[in-house]
Amino acid sequence: MDGVGDLPFPERGNQTPLEAAKTPHLDKLTAKGMMGTVYTVKQGIAPESDAGVFSLLSYDPAKLDLSRGVVEALGSGMEFKNGDLALRCNFATVQGGQITDRRAGRNVSTDEARELVETVNGDSQLKALASFELKATIGHRCALVFHSGRNHFSGAVSNLDPAYSRKGNVTIALSGVMLPALVPRCVPLNKSKAARDTAHLLNQFANQVYEVLKDYPINVKRNERGDLPANFLLMRDAGTKTPKVRKLKEKFGFRSVAVADMPVELGIAKVIGMDAEVFPPDRSLQGYSKRAEKALQLATKYDLVYVHLKGPDEPGHDGDFDGKKKSIEDIDAGFFAGLVEVEGKLLCVTADHSTPCIAKGHSDDPVPILVTGLNVKPDGSMRFTEAYGKKGKLGTIQHGHEILKKLKRLAS
Ligand SMILES: [Zn+2]
Repeated sequence: MDGVGDLPFPERGNQTPLEAAKTPHLDKLTAKGMMGTVYTVKQGIAPESDAGVFSLLSYDPAKLDLSRGVVEALGSGMEFKNGDLALRCNFATVQGGQITDRRAGRNVSTDEARELVETVNGDSQLKALASFELKATIGHRCALVFHSGRNHFSGAVSNLDPAYSRKGNVTIALSGVMLPALVPRCVPLNKSKAARDTAHLLNQFANQVYEVLKDYPINVKRNERGDLPANFLLMRDAGTKTPKVRKLKEKFGFRSVAVADMPVELGIAKVIGMDAEVFPPDRSLQGYSKRAEKALQLATKYDLVYVHLKGPDEPGHDGDFDGKKKSIEDIDAGFFAGLVEVEGKLLCVTADHSTPCIAKGHSDDPVPILVTGLNVKPDGSMRFTEAYGKKGKLGTIQHGHEILKKLKRLAS
């Protein structure tokens, strides 16, 4: 459950969304299992989803040549070869030289995004900078690929995004970023010419995108109806290589499949050799129950089924406690209701990181983990919450990348 971990929320009696939510099905599963907590990457790191998910799937992000940009480009089916430059982007709002919303109000429609992207792709001044392709993925999100050719690109450049900073190979979320924030400049992170040139290109690109979009009809209309203009492109997590990894099948000997809707999870599946079952990004009760059905069907053919449920993360980013609680309840009524009577399978429930409502962003707080089913002996946990996680028999797992090994042991 993406970003489901949280912290006590003062205006709701210091409960967390998991504590406040009614989750009868997950409670039943928990009463039969054991709990613990896990630092998905490691203590002190507030991971982005890509690092969190790689880690849950047994890959230590510190040892990967990791770029969210590359992973998203692969996950959205874009053409990318080593040497190209890929970035993850957001349509954002710039007003008075400052970023006032990182997601342009989080209400950019698919049609709007498609048209804005076409406009950017068709602009002759942008084309003169480099050969590139921008692709709208979901909502305000896009992926961007610059094709090499005469250019030598480097992934060692800072993020053009105030909310995420790069620490080695891993991008970390800066919690409590206050908006408005100045539009950051992209700077090279080493002394190479390629890094300098890449940073220069991205700064020029960002400026020109703003010139193209600021008075574009869609944005005039958005202004008129009181929506924030989508007039800027935040760019982050540049990369020039597909991470080289031992595939999951080689590592564990099992066939695996991901059930997901976001390009990042689909990209990760591609990199580590998992099959993928793509769902439309719908977060309705029906959507969740269809996923449960599909997961059970796949579990007859595969040894490992990874299901990524994006729901709880977004309200966490918005500081929307009630929205996050509702999302957890929908997942319980849709997804876990379908799994509660299943026998002969091992089920593990956890998160890729915490997204505490009070932080409005990812944090380094450990997340609860539940293992239930097969021969797992109950440890007295009653509910899937942060507090039960801290008391559970699984203890504190220091690195998410250890989980799969433990699960394999429990399942055999
Ligand atoms: Zn996430």
